[in-house]
Formats: sequence, C-alpha cells, structure tokens
Amino acid sequence: MEFGVYIHIPFCQQKCFYCDFPSFAGRERFIDDYLLALKEEIHKTKSNMGYGQDEKLQPKTLYIGGGTPTVLAEEQLEKLFQLIHEEISLDFCEEYTIEVNPGTVNENKLKLLKNAGITRLSIGVQSLDDKYLQAIGRIHNAQEAVDTVQLAQLLGLNNISIDLMYGLPGQTMAVLQETLRQALKLKVQHISIYGLQLEEGTAFAKMEAIGKLQLPADEITEAMYDYITSELPQQGYERYEISNFAQKGFYSRHNMSYWQDKMYLGFGSGAHSYWQGKRLQNLADIPSYIKAVPENNWQELEEQVSEKEHMEEMCFLGLRTAEGINKKQFSQTFGRNLEEIYGDVIIRLTEKGLLKDKEDSCSLTLLGMRYGNQVFSEFLL
Ligand code: SF4
Repeated sequence: MEFGVYIHIPFCQQKCFYCDFPSFAGRERFIDDYLLALKEEIHKTKSNMGYGQDEKLQPKTLYIGGGTPTVLAEEQLEKLFQLIHEEISLDFCEEYTIEVNPGTVNENKLKLLKNAGITRLSIGVQSLDDKYLQAIGRIHNAQEAVDTVQLAQLLGLNNISIDLMYGLPGQTMAVLQETLRQALKLKVQHISIYGLQLEEGTAFAKMEAIGKLQLPADEITEAMYDYITSELPQQGYERYEISNFAQKGFYSRHNMSYWQDKMYLGFGSGAHSYWQGKRLQNLADIPSYIKAVPENNWQELEEQVSEKEHMEEMCFLGLRTAEGINKKQFSQTFGRNLEEIYGDVIIRLTEKGLLKDKEDSCSLTLLGMRYGNQVFSEFLL
C-alpha cells in the first residue's frame, strides 16, 4: 500500500503577518512534551492499523513541515529524528523533506539534517529584499536566506526548493524581478511561488480592515504573475503545478501524491490525514493536542468523504497539475468515465480555451491556470 507521511512541527519564532497555518510563536516551552506526544500518536496509530510492536510505517515520501521544524534546538531535532527512526522506516522512502526557515539554521543543524537522511530541503525565502521581508514579518534577511541555500549546497544537500511570494505590500514589478533574478542565481532545483492572499485572522487581515495595508494594484499583481510564469520556464523550470516549478526530475514527490489523490497520514497538532476514504484532522491547539494523545482523542474531525466530494476533489487536485486529471484513475475509482460526469463542463471549458481535453487526461491550458478558481468552481457537482 502506497502512502505518504506528514509530520507537523507547529512552533515558530514569530508569526509572519500573512500566515494562517496552524503554527504558534512563544510556545517553545511545549516542545519536549510535544515530541513525546508525537511519538505516542504515531505509535498508537500504527497499533490501531494492526502493526506489531516493532513494525514500522513504510511511507513512500516523508515530509516534516510546520510551523518551523528548524526552530527546534539541536538536541530537540535529534530527539525528533530518533522518534521518527523508531516508528518509521526509510527503506522505501523516495523523498524525505524538511522545511527550513533561514533565520533558524546554522552549519551544525544542516549537518544534523543531512545525517538524519533528509534528501530535500524546502526553504522559506519569500523575498530577497530586506525591506519586504521585514514588511511581511519574516525573521531573517535576504543575505541569511542566500547563505542558508549556499551552505546547504556546500554540504551536499542538492535537492533544494525555495518558496517565494509576490504581491507583497508596496512591492513593485522591478523589486519582484530583482528577487527572481537573485533567486535564479542560487541554481536551486525547485521554486514554489505564491501570490499573497489575505487570510482571516492574520495580522495583514487586521491591518487591511483598518486601512493600514497598501497592496499592489490588481494589474500589477497580474503582471507579476505573467512575468513569473513566463520567466521560470524560460530558465529551465518546468511548471508542473499551478504554483510549482522544477528542473527535470525534481518535482516534489510528496506534494504530487496529494494532487494525485493518494493516501497520506499526518501526525502532530493540526495535521490532516486522508486514509481509506476518510478525512481526519488533529486538534490544532498545542497543549490540547499534548493532553489528548494519552487520552486517545487527539482528532477533532473524522469524516467519510462522499463519492461526490471525492470526484470533485480528484478533479480540483488533478487540474492543479500539468498532467491534469487522469481519466483512467477516475474511471477505475468511480466505475464511471470522467465524461459521463463532467462531459458538458469539459466541452464548454475546452471551447473557451481553458481546458485541454486529451484521450487519457484533462488539464488546464495556460489561460486555465490563470483563471484556475473559475474552472474549479465548474467542477463542483
Ligand atoms: S515561518 Fe512559516 S509557518 Fe511560521 S508563521 Fe511564518 S509562514 Fe507561518
């Protein structure tokens, strides 16, 4: 059985102004207890799945995200890798990623990651301009981000992804172009690019509500999007998903498995799982999660995904990728062809130039990627 494993580390040194992930600043005092709860959760989940005491999970991909996993001190990172080693086997693992925040690593920590078997780093760079890094609440400056990437490369960690953002407050096209130019010089294997979204409950949403946030005009943000999506492919980065670009052979396998509707287990506070047709979500509050694991009630949600929702999700997720919805997978899963369910939608959107309909797949055109949300809404049943 093929599946991925996600491990959530919910601690951050400071909350970035745009971030609505289940991550918290100022909770470092819980880290040690959190790691104990994490181990217990993995162990109990395995035994609920019928694993023997010494049997380990054997995921195809393993991803440690957050939050900021690298905010953990060296001894705590060692404990994290030890507990993973005790519960999870890397024997069949094709990709082992950890998220890294440039303000929280040094040479020792990077060596520790490498020695633990990490094969891929996902580094939150966001911008290579100090003014904008400060404006969005990042804890590092541009030079620290560059140093982190280069140090990792020197240590032989040669599967590196960086995250960048556009549409930042006050950001101009020239600033974005310069960040991209600097980023390309780093010669990383993978780049994820996200437009700033105003999410409820974030510092930015509050600033916006009182008129204190100056975002670029829509035309500028759209021009940034056009620039990025044409520049990166020209520089040898294939756009394999709406927001993700990679050199040949460096797609994120873990994230691909989400988009391909594969099963995954998520561990830690706020983590999600998708397992045998069920969607599960853990308690997001750190102390509540730590208390709930020994009492066996760490999940705040467990629901069966209906066939209708499953069809919609397979389409939304598949359409995010360049390879699109896999028609064979759809008919094998549901016993009906994609066309039986979505024939009219596919014809209409293909005529509008938003979809490419092929014999074995259905995917977004470049225009469709630009208006992704509009296309996705047409796939709601
Ligand atoms: S470091 Fe990452 S998870 Fe933490 S607040 Fe910033 S964006 Fe969110």
